[in-house]
Amino acid sequence: MSLLQIQNLTKQFGGLTAVNDVSFEVEEGQILSVIGPNGAGKSTLFKLISSFLTPTKGRVLYKGERVSGLSPHRVAQMGIVRTFQETTVFKEMTAFDNVVIAHQLGLKAGPLGIFLASGTAREDEVRIRESAAEILTYLGLGHVMHEEARNLPHGYLRALGIAIAMAARPKLLLLDEPFAGMNVDETDRAVDMVEGIRRRGITVLLVEHDMRAVMRISDRIVVISFGQKIAEGTPAEIRADEAVIEAYLGHDDETLGH
Ligand code: ADP
Ligand code: MG
Repeated sequence: MSLLQIQNLTKQFGGLTAVNDVSFEVEEGQILSVIGPNGAGKSTLFKLISSFLTPTKGRVLYKGERVSGLSPHRVAQMGIVRTFQETTVFKEMTAFDNVVIAHQLGLKAGPLGIFLASGTAREDEVRIRESAAEILTYLGLGHVMHEEARNLPHGYLRALGIAIAMAARPKLLLLDEPFAGMNVDETDRAVDMVEGIRRRGITVLLVEHDMRAVMRISDRIVVISFGQKIAEGTPAEIRADEAVIEAYLGHDDETLGH
């Protein structure tokens, strides 16, 4: 059974059908990217998967269990975690303290509580600090972890957002345009980081505009246009797909990574 099954998912906002009868599955341990022109419905799809929005029709199953209709908090406890936007980073605090706080919030609210509640508060604190340092080092932020977040360049701030999400111990991580605004070097580092996350056994669902990065990193790609799935396949299959080329032509200057 696939880790995530998206079945006939539809979301209407008044007269607008933002997501229209979309179905696909995500296998455990995969990196699957969702691509499509601006306004295609990608972010709405992510909000449906993480249960921040309720579908008009269709459903999302995680490990065979229905998540649509559950609270976003409950869905996060089950292991489906969306990246936090930059705005949830505390700019006056260090990167390290941001990730420590994210652990502590998870401790109050999340599944981490069960694991950590056994020890004393002091032991919890030690374990949290170790985990925060480990996550930051793993994501290539080890050398800047004691810098205040406001002093970090854009690429590092994005990585910090992912580190904060990792504190919640996701099994399925949803990244909405993690490479946006990054230069080529930053993107290369971030691609390595996402591959590293996958090596830890975390399944990654990615919405991304950077075609070069998407083609490099993805096991599978789902293409949506005007809310509908128009193609699905490996990067090589997507590159050669006529419908995909057509959907992108005339929209903007995006290329398919050639
Ligand atoms: P993408 O992420 O692919 O750029 P979105 O999922 O953000 O696209 O948006 C898809 C469509 O749904 C757009 O036309 C957008 O204006 C519309 N939309 C998104 N969220 C809402 C909302 N909360 N209310 C009304 N319309 C929305
Ligand atoms: Mg979007």
